[in-house]
Amino acid sequence: MLKFDYHNHPQAHRTDLHYCENVLQPWADKAREVGITDFALTDHDRYKAGFSFDEVKKFQEANPDLNIRAGIELDNDPETSADGKKWVEKHYDELDFILGSVHFVKDFPFDHPHYIAEYDKYDINELYKEYYKLIQSTAESGLVDSLAHLDLIKIFKFFPTEDLSALYDETLDIINARNLSMEISTAGFRKPIGEQYPHFDLIKKAKEKGISFTIASDAHTAADLGKNYDKLEAILKEFDITEVAVYEKHKKIMASPYQ
Ligand SMILES: [Zn+2]
Ligand SMILES: [Zn+2]
Repeated sequence: MLKFDYHNHPQAHRTDLHYCENVLQPWADKAREVGITDFALTDHDRYKAGFSFDEVKKFQEANPDLNIRAGIELDNDPETSADGKKWVEKHYDELDFILGSVHFVKDFPFDHPHYIAEYDKYDINELYKEYYKLIQSTAESGLVDSLAHLDLIKIFKFFPTEDLSALYDETLDIINARNLSMEISTAGFRKPIGEQYPHFDLIKKAKEKGISFTIASDAHTAADLGKNYDKLEAILKEFDITEVAVYEKHKKIMASPYQ
């Protein structure tokens, strides 16, 4: 089994859930149960009001056998991300790990089933191109350590009709030039796409370029921590990925993910 999980949402998209023992402790309990020894709390920047460095510290001290990282998932929400960015800049040195994400193209949240009709208004190739340009600017922001779910835009199985491999190469080269990591996530197994993020072709390209990987479940409930990690383990084996990145105060440490 694999022992790292660097994308988790204790707040589960709820504005009323503030970090406290009741919200956090189930994650440590579940981590021990499934053999996760090192994991990051990465709630969305739009819920930062419920985040507390004091509560994270208490949580870490109560669970000294685990490496628990203070993190956040910073995205491009047109309403909240400017504030989120400011907050991240202010607290950068207190955070261990920052995930960079794109959840909006043409200002609609493309990964939300409620907005699926929006896709009909646009050329899918244009959406993909905008998406990867936004990923690129996220990578260039200087604020993120790893890029989350790099091909999230495939979530509802809308695929480009043009060959975008040059754009993928350009995106991975930016990630590589900045020594950032790329996430391999099992979240897609719980979604219509039914496979990991990102696609094997992107994992293969990234591996060839020497890009480091973080691994994650993107759990929104403690029960999903390390979910589908048997499938993730098979993917790491397939691509001969023997070390992945963990982070402490943004310092990348390469380590074997195996227990
Ligand atoms: Zn996300
Ligand atoms: Zn997430």
